[in-house]
Amino acid sequence: MFLSHLPRRLFRTFAGFTVAIILICTVRTIVVVLSNTRKLNHCDVHEGDEYIALSEARWEAMKKSLTFKTISYDDSNDVETEEFKRLLEYIIAGHPTVFQSRLVTYEIVANYSLLIRVQGKDKALLPYMLAAHLDVVPVVENQWSVNPFSGIEDEEGTLVYGRGTLDDKGGLMAQLSALEFFLARGRVPDRSFFLAYGHDEEIMGMDGAASIARTLSQQGVDRLHFVLDEGLLVLKGMMPGIDYNLASIGVTEKGFMDVNISVVYTGGHSSMPNKESAVSILAKAVEKLHVTQMPAEMDELADEPFKLLAPIAGFPMNFVFSNLWLFRPIIGYVASKDKTLQGIVRTTRAPTIFQAGAKSNVIPSSAWAIVNHRIHPRDSKETVLEHLRWTINDERVKIVAAGEYYKPHPVSPFDRSTSLPYQVVADTAEQLFENTISIPGIMVAATDTKHYLHLSENIYRFNPILAGQREIATIHAEDEFISRENYRRMINFYYHLFINADRTKLENRQTANDEL
Ligand SMILES: [Zn+2]
Repeated sequence: MFLSHLPRRLFRTFAGFTVAIILICTVRTIVVVLSNTRKLNHCDVHEGDEYIALSEARWEAMKKSLTFKTISYDDSNDVETEEFKRLLEYIIAGHPTVFQSRLVTYEIVANYSLLIRVQGKDKALLPYMLAAHLDVVPVVENQWSVNPFSGIEDEEGTLVYGRGTLDDKGGLMAQLSALEFFLARGRVPDRSFFLAYGHDEEIMGMDGAASIARTLSQQGVDRLHFVLDEGLLVLKGMMPGIDYNLASIGVTEKGFMDVNISVVYTGGHSSMPNKESAVSILAKAVEKLHVTQMPAEMDELADEPFKLLAPIAGFPMNFVFSNLWLFRPIIGYVASKDKTLQGIVRTTRAPTIFQAGAKSNVIPSSAWAIVNHRIHPRDSKETVLEHLRWTINDERVKIVAAGEYYKPHPVSPFDRSTSLPYQVVADTAEQLFENTISIPGIMVAATDTKHYLHLSENIYRFNPILAGQREIATIHAEDEFISRENYRRMINFYYHLFINADRTKLENRQTANDEL
């Protein structure tokens, strides 16, 4: 009798449980959506105290900066030093108000880098620093549809092509243009600030940014309010169900490590193969580490964008984001399976070089490969090597960290209601970009900030560029370009940052709901 009722009882319990969960999720969604009091202030669009128009002179100045072939090469001895000197001369001559201002001092560091200091009124306030770089990556000229160093516009005149437009001469020239305007209007900042322009960022900044950091320390500058360097972008239409652009501010940077894995094994003539060879053993190891990535995990930083988007997302995304307690594992799983998003939730590894053999009829007695890692802030060199050993699980494979290694950077504060520097950067982005929400993110590429970590706990990596797939595809690739619209926004972003950075008190800001 009792047993015959069991399935029905079970079904009832299950149905009751499901209804309860749906009810809880719905109530939470409603509460979160109603909590949306977001109001964005946009600045004026007529040139004046609030806004810089993109005059032809400002646009031409940026275009001209693209014509200097300031390329960083991996074997850096043949850096085209004259081009760097000419670019510096051009920058200094092109911004007379900045370089002749009584508020400004500057010096050339390590021959080709530039450090500018703008003196603020209040010496008690900690100065901040904006960074950018003068160098660009090499080009494969025949893959470009235009000359990458000619500063040539498209037919409609809406954009300019050129190596460095997005990375990073656009940012550098926009900062200088904004400062020129700022000082020309007779403004004096309360807070002092630095502009730091390294010349070898693309080859790790060991000469430029490292020397700038040393120069600062020689001048007794050992603490900064914040550092803002190049970094993540304002992403256009990237998330289904979200009608907002996402101003993604890099609050940390992944580490970098190459690991050499090698096998030594009996070789011989190709007509008499053994059951195994150095190549086959190494190939097996590479296959294993390729399919078994390190574990993915949703942490506080990975959660934060979803919490911030919950009140403004459309259905069903608002339902999912308002109930991370239930959906977090699913979001984590989906992210871990996505080529681009997985970098947020795990350390990634990819075999990039595979070498063995020299002759087609000789079985090589050794084989080696390089596995490149981008280390998540929760991992370390040791945990990565340990996981690699565990995955390969073959003592015949030698595993050695090789070449350059950079630790993942500490995670800078990203709560807008408690961190003044983060609030300043996040607010400025929302002020300048319409229909945009600022979210914290992880920078997966390297920047010069590695040389500035000791100067502040508030290190941010952000490029104020509204970017769709088209822009993103051209970074470090062919036909890199920037639109007039984007360059105008960049100049205004930095101008407003100069103003907003004077804040000494937090403003009341809605923050992500911690109970999600
Ligand atoms: Zn760059």
